[in-house]
Amino acid sequence: MVVILKNHADQERVENLTKWLQDQNLRINEVKGEYQTIIGLIGDTSRIDIDLIQSLDIVEDVKRISEPYKCANRNFHPDDTVIDVSGNKIGGGNFQYFAGPCSVESREQIIEIAKSVKASGANILRGGAFKPRTSPYAFQGLRAEGLELLLEAKKETGMPIITEIMDASHISLFEDVDIIQVGARNMQNFELLKELGHVDKPIFLKRGLANTLEELLMSAEYIMAGGNENVILCERGIRTFETATRNTLDLSAVPLLKEKSHLPVVVDPSHASGIARLVEPMAYAAAACGADGLMIEVHNNPSKALCDGPQALTPDQFAKVVKGVENIRKHIQ
Ligand code: PEP
Ligand code: MN
Repeated sequence: MVVILKNHADQERVENLTKWLQDQNLRINEVKGEYQTIIGLIGDTSRIDIDLIQSLDIVEDVKRISEPYKCANRNFHPDDTVIDVSGNKIGGGNFQYFAGPCSVESREQIIEIAKSVKASGANILRGGAFKPRTSPYAFQGLRAEGLELLLEAKKETGMPIITEIMDASHISLFEDVDIIQVGARNMQNFELLKELGHVDKPIFLKRGLANTLEELLMSAEYIMAGGNENVILCERGIRTFETATRNTLDLSAVPLLKEKSHLPVVVDPSHASGIARLVEPMAYAAAACGADGLMIEVHNNPSKALCDGPQALTPDQFAKVVKGVENIRKHIQ
């Protein structure tokens, strides 16, 4: 980090600042120019409040040189993280499909979908039990009963399950869940992230609706700083001025996140587009730009789905997407 001081900054106040920075365990390298003085900070600046320094009236500007996240940073962990979920690896060249309905609706529904997506090549079953809905009058998910049904589907098919948590007080209910999902709306629920830092399960962290990549990585850092290093990042579309799609799929996030971080990156073309017929081409594009997996919503009867029917693929459509993606992956490896 470098601090650029204002011209003719009061010397006593500059000394107070450097003393304070040294007290934060930083070494100081002061460069005095003819008109301007620059203070270089050497050491771990991740705990330094850049806005606080910026607000001092002796300071012209502050610039970060290294990123404010450490655990998630590729510079400190050059090899790809590979996450193993009951023998199903994600990351480091291992690709996974996380497929299933938006919401668990009944025993028959989840088991039928689980069997069909497994037959098409998906190894991880998704299904929402606690649903974050914009309207309080919309279907809120089957909640604890939904988790029970997911566990039945896991037993019946042998597929590990992923489902979304909305509140830290529910963690004990997720004991037999294989991967805990943090949805876009909770990406910056910092108390929840801190609690998940103490959980011994992979966390699937979705990018918030209006969050930068750095904010996504800082949220991953919250989980990792607590001791849980198994975080999967997910690009699921962001809010833009475009209204033709539910969100705008930011595919440049995939290679950029992989450059900045060693964590696996999964793309969710279902929530990104909100339109079932766009899922196939967007899934192909995601595979082509290096994603480590795809999260895709699949329903046995999309027109009757209680949540997100318009973006759900039928099992046959999902089978076609898997074939196409596998073809693309052969060419990019
Ligand atoms: C979901 O995966 O069911 C979901 C609600 O996704 P998001 O948080 O990306 O909107
Ligand atoms: Mn959904």
